[in-house]
Amino acid sequence: MNLTATSHKVPLNDGNSIPIIGLGTYLDPGTESQNTCLEAVKMAIDMGYRHIDGAYLYRNEHEVGLAIREKIAEGKVKREDIFYCGKLWATCFDPEMVRPTLERTLQELQLDYVDLYIIEMPMGLRPGNEFYPRDKNGKWLYHKTDFCATWEALEACKDAGLVKSLGVSNFNRRQLELILDKPGLKHKPVSNQVECHPYFTQPKLLKFCQQHDIVIVAHSPLGTARNPNWVNISVPPLLEDAFLNSVAKKYNKTAAQIALRFNIQRGVIVIPKSFNPQRIKENFQIFDFALTEEEMTNIEALNKNIRLVELLMWSDHPDYPFSDEY
Ligand code: NAP
Repeated sequence: MNLTATSHKVPLNDGNSIPIIGLGTYLDPGTESQNTCLEAVKMAIDMGYRHIDGAYLYRNEHEVGLAIREKIAEGKVKREDIFYCGKLWATCFDPEMVRPTLERTLQELQLDYVDLYIIEMPMGLRPGNEFYPRDKNGKWLYHKTDFCATWEALEACKDAGLVKSLGVSNFNRRQLELILDKPGLKHKPVSNQVECHPYFTQPKLLKFCQQHDIVIVAHSPLGTARNPNWVNISVPPLLEDAFLNSVAKKYNKTAAQIALRFNIQRGVIVIPKSFNPQRIKENFQIFDFALTEEEMTNIEALNKNIRLVELLMWSDHPDYPFSDEY
């Protein structure tokens, strides 16, 4: 695969393709002022990014849409040059909710379609206006989901032209197989978005997905922003890793660039989040060098097999995905 800054798309199993790097847009509530996302997406498009990862849950999808539309209006890009991934949140898994939820995303974006729409996680929460529903004692309100029925509703959205490709996120092998083995499956998942970086390299899930022509999209490819509310910060900061920094020095790069290059060089899509101009640029400058086979092996060996994003608050959910080996 010859990846360059202007040509770095990877084929998907449905005939579409996905740029191997995208801009992540998740922001912890209350951490940055409004419109930072708008400016970041515009800047990213100017710098050569053609893929944006977002979600209605992130509460800034309208900024992403505005940025894309402004860049189209300027003549910088055409709609078909841009790849946007949106996500179906856990309170919207009932089949009759799927299309209205996707339409709400399109309304936020003010776009006619999304390129990829993924089930955000394989654990249903009680439908309603709350993103994070709990009872009066603070107990999580779970919701039983028939993921095959949810998937069929997503297939209908693709057939209606509202979305080009369908995928999942945080699914384990068993949960992927449930969809892959569904009788009458019309559209296979093209991707599984999961945590993936040099400290959590996902060798078994990656192999399984490759065997089924499903791409892995690496969320938190730089090791997250380390918010202790949802991140396991007992794992040391990835970007301070001594080996990554020694390789970075050799190439006159940063540890972040090495972590991203490692993934793209093994066919894993990366979606680093930054709203900082310098770092948005830095994260895209990963096409002008290549790691040796030995370096790839040594970076793979950094794998600690410990998740940063464990979603432990839902560990008693009947569909909790991370109890299985992979
Ligand atoms: P990440 O991309 O691994 O790391 C983001 C953090 O690293 C931010 O604090 C960012 O700060 C900083 N950063 C960015 N570039 C850097 C660089 N070159 N050097 C040093 N620090 C740098 O974390 P993430 O946001 O968790 O994951 C990325 C995206 O994946 C999300 O934004 C979201 O779109 C998606 N995601 C999906 C799921 C899911 O369940 N499907 C879960 C988590 C994330 P600055 O902004 O200040 O640069």
